[in-house]
Amino acid sequence: MSESNDKLLFGFLNTNNKSIDMSPEAVELRNMGVNNVDLRSCLPQYRIGIVTAVKEMFNAHPELRGQLNTIKCDNLDRVCVKTGRLLSPYATYGPVNKGVPFGGVLKINSKHYGSRMFPSKLKKNSEDGLFVPNTTPQSIIYHELGHGLHLEICSLNTGVKNGSIPDNASYDELVINQYMGDAHAEEIVEQACADLGIEFESRDFSENLSKYGRSDYGEALAEAIAEVFNSKNPRPLAQAIYNRLLQYLKRMRGEI
Ligand SMILES: [Zn+2]
Repeated sequence: MSESNDKLLFGFLNTNNKSIDMSPEAVELRNMGVNNVDLRSCLPQYRIGIVTAVKEMFNAHPELRGQLNTIKCDNLDRVCVKTGRLLSPYATYGPVNKGVPFGGVLKINSKHYGSRMFPSKLKKNSEDGLFVPNTTPQSIIYHELGHGLHLEICSLNTGVKNGSIPDNASYDELVINQYMGDAHAEEIVEQACADLGIEFESRDFSENLSKYGRSDYGEALAEAIAEVFNSKNPRPLAQAIYNRLLQYLKRMRGEI
């Protein structure tokens, strides 16, 4: 084998082994401190919106900078073990697993973010009242990072710092009891409901926020944040939930 062939072979192997998304958006997100980024299964036209949403949320809530460490676009479709129905979330947000440095993982479903029909589907979801008005591939990221703010409150409450490896008991308390159990979110949303005289489990709540927001307190919080960041004129319930969230965060940090 000649020297030039070896070089060719190397070049070929290097290209094939390239497992890192080097798109400008992925590089920008890495520069913002999100270590693991792969948006290769996401259509290019949605990527800028993802970067913009992360940037805006990081500016408004710098605490998310230490938390969000992974953004991946993958096929998230799965069959529900209980019902046998196909679950096809648009995106998910959650903590890392046990035994690794603590942080948040944003997963984006390539079934939707890889489809040109996605914006029109979301438009219909908003018109049907399922989601807050004007939901877009970008505004879904606000929603997901809204879950990140909830996770931040649970971290503060349990004393688990981003990047540290919590012991099993602290992890379970933070993730299972608090984050999954909607701790804090319930209090925040109920306070906002009391401010406006709206019952959480009422049709009124769906109409003033979204049907999806009524599914549980964590989703209510995330939908409110999506609307506040996505709209020039957020409606009163979304704004009230966000205001109560800000107040709750300040109290938790001993600032008020
Ligand atoms: Zn959600």
